[in-house]
Amino acid sequence: MEKIRIGVSTCLMGEPVRYDGGHSHDRYVTDTLGRYVEFVPVCPETEAGLGIPREPMRLVGDPGLPRLLTIKTKRDMTDILVTWARKRVRELEKQGLCGFIFKSKSPSSGMERVKVYSESGMPVKKGVGLFAGAFMEHFPLVPVEEDGRLHDPGLRENFIERIFALKRWRLTQTGQKTIGSLVAFHTTHKLLILSHSTKHYREMGRWVAQAKGLRIDEVYARYESLLMEALRLRATVKKHTNVLHHMMGYFKKELAPDKKQELLEVIGDYHNELVPLIVPITLFKHYVRKYEQLYLRDQVYLSPHPMELKLRNHV
Ligand code: SF4
Repeated sequence: MEKIRIGVSTCLMGEPVRYDGGHSHDRYVTDTLGRYVEFVPVCPETEAGLGIPREPMRLVGDPGLPRLLTIKTKRDMTDILVTWARKRVRELEKQGLCGFIFKSKSPSSGMERVKVYSESGMPVKKGVGLFAGAFMEHFPLVPVEEDGRLHDPGLRENFIERIFALKRWRLTQTGQKTIGSLVAFHTTHKLLILSHSTKHYREMGRWVAQAKGLRIDEVYARYESLLMEALRLRATVKKHTNVLHHMMGYFKKELAPDKKQELLEVIGDYHNELVPLIVPITLFKHYVRKYEQLYLRDQVYLSPHPMELKLRNHV
């Protein structure tokens, strides 16, 4: 698969664009994720022409509709940033971004819980950076995360799984959109979707089944919305355990009783959080190869992202 393109706050790339001429280099982003994705860096404050160094700023007022003010001189930068952000998100449409990693806490780039100060100077962590807000409004289905949250193994796995899924979904649309390619995508993603939401999987199945006669663009748009909504939900140990048990059903005839028992024990160890998900998955991959189980072989669930990212290696 060609590299996935995702947006990133420029300072996370190690570029000295912060208000004080520093950076916020995140090595996981550049050195690890950078091997699989192509970054499109965006620094709202410098790109909007505020210069380096510049006076630091903060959000002030109503957390739902804050103003962006410089801290000492109280200059209002809201209109400059908002006008620039509206233009920039339209430009980004051409980039086909499959995700965005924002710099946390920034009044321009923070995705959530950014401090918003009252007139008396009291902060509440309820704001969204002005550019991050414009981006999320313009691209509601594109996965977004922040640098700090990416260091949580569960959140990291969820984000990366979504950017790979969105890329695969976009690739189905490089040719002509057909019900056949939609059905093929839905089939190969069954277990992956089930590991997030059985409810969504059923709803998506119903939608695909009734697609004939509807406009194909409408069918694809609704499916994409359900897909990204489903994958945003956390894949818990319990949901993965259900999927693993479901997969066992494909080896009813092939596995001898002692092998079945061994597989059940490995799934049980995963369920009890004694071993990471990669352990039962590796055993299943072995059986898929050994018994040439074609249906499971084609399931994205077994390899939704590069193994080298080690996203399923945590307990
Ligand atoms: S947080 Fe955003 S605005 Fe601030 S330096 Fe980083 S990219 Fe630029």
